[in-house]
Amino acid sequence: MQTKTCTKCGETKPVEEFSKNSRSSNGFRSRCKVCHAAASRRYHQEHREAAAAYYQKYKEQRAAWKRRYRQEHKEAAAAYDRRYRQEHKEAAAAYDRRYNREHKEIRAVKARLYREGHKEEIAAFGRRYRQEHKAEIAAYVRRCRREQATAERSRQLQAFISAVKEIPHNTEGTEA
Ligand SMILES: [Zn+2]
Repeated sequence: MQTKTCTKCGETKPVEEFSKNSRSSNGFRSRCKVCHAAASRRYHQEHREAAAAYYQKYKEQRAAWKRRYRQEHKEAAAAYDRRYRQEHKEAAAAYDRRYNREHKEIRAVKARLYREGHKEEIAAFGRRYRQEHKAEIAAYVRRCRREQATAERSRQLQAFISAVKEIPHNTEGTEA
């Protein structure tokens, strides 16, 4: 059995306990798999912590920079948003749906406050809208009534069918 001594833990182990490394002269890493995994874990851990600390440290700064940039480039930012939404219609629509779902309550409150503060304008808008869309509204009302009538007829037919089904079959009817 071919063995090798780990430079980290000093244990002599079968070569299967060492990962292959084509760059090393004997074809294996100098550290055993266990030591290598531990070092790799530690490295990633420290790296992640450093990255998080860095991210946190400059968070405020980045937000301020972004605000200032957008302030100074309002037109460009708006154009960018428009173009982005144009090119990502699906994603934008999905985002809007999710946003609306997640902000349902706050939107309801805002809508109520708005209604309370703008009663006159809303009433005027409603009057104007109804005035300008008379034909469409009338057509809509007719369609609704028609659908209601259809639903009512279907309900009556269903009731009739069930009533007929409940009439017991006269199995002795042929006997006089
Ligand atoms: Zn080792």
